[in-house]
This record gives sequence, structure tokens and C-alpha cells, in this order.
Amino acid sequence: MAQRQDALVVGGGVIGVCAAYYMAKAGMSVTLVERGELCGGSSYGNAGWVVPTHSFPLAAPGVVMQALRWTLRPDSPFYVKPRFDLDLFRWLRWFSAASNSRSFHRAVPIIAELGKSSLALYDELIAAESIECQYQRRGLLAVFRTREGREKGEGEARLLGESGLPARTLTPDEVVEMEPVVRPGNFGGVYFEQDANLKPDELVLGLASRFERMGGAVHTHAGVEGFHARDGAVTSVQTTKGAFQADRVVLAAGSWTPRLAKRLGIYLPVQAAKGYSVTFDRPADSPTRPVMMAEARCGLTPMGPHMRIAGTLELSGINDRIRQRRVDAIARAVGEYFTTRLDPAKGVVWSGLRPLSPDGLPIIGPVAGVSNVVIATGHSMTGMTLGPVTGKLVAQMVAGHEPIVDPAPFSPSRFE
Ligand SMILES: Cc1cc2nc3c(=O)[nH]c(=O)nc-3n(C[C@H](O)[C@H](O)[C@H](O)COP(=O)(O)OP(=O)(O)OC[C@H]3O[C@@H](n4cnc5c(N)ncnc54)[C@H](O)[C@@H]3O)c2cc1C
Repeated sequence: MAQRQDALVVGGGVIGVCAAYYMAKAGMSVTLVERGELCGGSSYGNAGWVVPTHSFPLAAPGVVMQALRWTLRPDSPFYVKPRFDLDLFRWLRWFSAASNSRSFHRAVPIIAELGKSSLALYDELIAAESIECQYQRRGLLAVFRTREGREKGEGEARLLGESGLPARTLTPDEVVEMEPVVRPGNFGGVYFEQDANLKPDELVLGLASRFERMGGAVHTHAGVEGFHARDGAVTSVQTTKGAFQADRVVLAAGSWTPRLAKRLGIYLPVQAAKGYSVTFDRPADSPTRPVMMAEARCGLTPMGPHMRIAGTLELSGINDRIRQRRVDAIARAVGEYFTTRLDPAKGVVWSGLRPLSPDGLPIIGPVAGVSNVVIATGHSMTGMTLGPVTGKLVAQMVAGHEPIVDPAPFSPSRFE
């Protein structure tokens, strides 16, 4: 059995690695265990947007009806695979309960605040640790191809403005001036100046190496299989590479966290929301900053020598099956919004599972009944954005320090 540590982190995605890094930085002895390779989950092939402006929960007024309509379309951006699954039913109940104006308007400023803190931490972290991950702060451009899309986008921008995230509305000509490869005939855009982007695997692996340099231990191919608990506390964690002991255990296993939590008698409503990305060698006529293709609900990100397109949200359980029609729909959108020419056959297709919470807020904090476990999951569409602030918050919770943001809205106990 390995030496007893101050903390054991389960999961080597952006959330687990950020938590491990900030705990080590606070002077704790920390071990991270990962079932496969580091950054092999949702944190690998995502769009790499660091976007406080993506503060909108999926649970919004009218979304349930919209989702039902979309579910009938095989290439729609949102899809729930009909199946008999009690966890899915329970999740859908929480989701429809949160899909109202009051919950939505309560969540937006909370997520925005979290995102702003995380962006500031990214600036600090990347400079302090000299992590090469194509980090750039050139903002994010949302482009519209319909009048309705523009009206919705402008409404969202106004709401974000109330949360201290200003945006600039652009005419169709101004959009083309900013990114000349956007097709003329667009309906204008909104520019979010403060947003950033990066190459997600380079960030996660870079940060993991800084963690190890500080004395942190990483065990890959060490999947957690169970827990030993006594007197309401976990005493050891059983992995495929032996048992580990720690004073605190942080469960940051993304979409797999509910399965682990269940072994401790903890219920977490998190559904795996599959998305796809396709990565290309960067063409000469690539946009220079991330662009959101608003109506198509997908995004394009320049990443140094690469360019990535990403999108779709599919609730079909935990699996890595690639539905080609959905991938084709993302590639098709690029042709509708941009003059950039892409050969789909030359792209590398990837799928990942976002850990989707039903109310759009991440699930971070201690749980009732097991005194030394901290949960850090449910980051949905913005886990890359919220990695640093989550890691910092977890470290502060474990150390008993003043938290960087009020943790109350993220408490796992809201689902008891
Ligand atoms: C197509 C797509 C695009 C996206 N774009 C963006 C974006 O632009 N910006 C943004 O902010 N977010 C984006 N996201 C969301 C973001 O990727 C996720 O929210 C984030 O990666 C979640 O991180 P995580 O560490 O919780 O999970 P993961 O990265 O999935 O990591 C969980 C880890 O836990 C490990 N694990 C599981 N079970 C065990 C076990 N039993 N024992 C040990 N280890 C275990 C897994 O192997 C995995 O490595 C996107 C997601 C997708 C799918």
C-alpha cells in the first residue's frame, strides 16, 4: 500500500489535474489516480474555449419542448436517446424542474462569476508555470445566419452584460472585417472580447507535469474499483494498481463520477452528454479566433497548427459510439458559415462525454454521510473554462481556507 497522503484525486481530466495542482501548491501531499492515460476523457478533444460568456445552463425556459422536437431529427444539435434508464428519468426530472425562467436567471450570474474567476486564474497559471498550450485572448465571435438567431444572441449578450461580461454587437460587414472568411450574407454577430482559447490536452498535460514537479504522484492505469469506509469516512481506495490511503478523497471522474459515488451511497444526477470534434491541419484561410456558429450550435477554434470544429449534445449513456450523421452536420455547418474549404476525409474525429448536471451548475463540495469525500464534477459544456477555479475551490475546501467564490450554489446536497 502506498504511503498515506493528505489527498487522493480520482480522475485525470482537467478538473482532477487542476484540483491536484492547487492542493499541491497549498503544500499538501497529493496522489492522483487515473483509470487510463491522463487527459483521455472529455478534456482531450474539446473546443478549448475559455469562455465566461458561456454562462447559460442548458436548462432554460422552453428547452424541454425544443429537445423533444430535436430528438426526432438525427442530425440535430441536441438528442436524447429514448431508453429505459432510471438514472436518466431521475435526471430528466431535475432538468425539467430547472428549465424555468427563475432558475435560469439565478444560474447565469453565478456561472459568470465562476467563469470570470477561472479566466483570471488561467492568465496567472499559464504565465507562472510557462505552459505552452496555444493560449490566446483574442475573444470569441458569435456569427448569426438568421434574424431569429441574431435576436436571441443579442438578448443573451444583454443578459451577460448585466453579469459584468460586456459584448459588442457587429453588423454583417463588421463580422467579415473581423474574420474575412465568414461568408457575406450573414446576419451580423456579437463579439465577446474577454474570452480566451487554448489546446486542452496541452494545458492538462502541462499542468500535470508541474504537479509532479512539485512532488505530486500520478498513477495511470489505476482505475478505482471500490472504497473501504469506517465511521462515515473513506479509509482506503481500492484501484487496479493496489490500495491508496488519504485523509481526503476528491472524486473528479467526469461522467463516471456518479458510478463511483453510488458505491459510497451518494446520489449524483450527472448524465454523460456526448459531443464530437473534428481536428484538421490548419488551413491558410482559417479564422484567427474562436467562432460560434450560433444557429448550428457548433464552434470552430484555431489551435496553433490545428483547427478544430466541435458540437452536438447527445444523451445516449456512457459509450464512445460515433454517429456519423452528427459529425457530418458539424462539418456541413462550416461550409454554411465560412468560405474556408475543408476536406472532411482529412479530419480526425473524436467523441467525448461532458458530465452534464441538470441545473447547469457544477457539483463541487463535501457530501453528507461521508465526511472526507469532496465531489468535483458536473461541469457540463464549460469544464475546460471552469477547471482552475474548481481546482482552487477544492483545495481551499480541503485546507479549510476562505473560498475564492461562495460554494453554496454548487453543493452536492442540493440533490438530496
Ligand atoms: C465536443 C466537446 C466540446 C467541448 N468544448 C468545450 C469548450 O470549448 N470549453 C469548455 O469549457 N468545455 C468544453 N467541453 C466540456 C469539457 O470538455 C468538460 O466539461 C470537461 O472536460 C470535464 O472534465 P472532467 O475532468 O470532469 O472529465 P474528464 O475529462 O472526462 O475526466 C474524467 C477522468 O476520470 C477518469 N476516470 C473515470 N472513471 C475512473 C475510475 N474509476 N478510476 C480512475 N479514473 C477514472 C477518466 O478516465 C477520465 O480521464 C466540451 C466537451 C465536448 C464533448
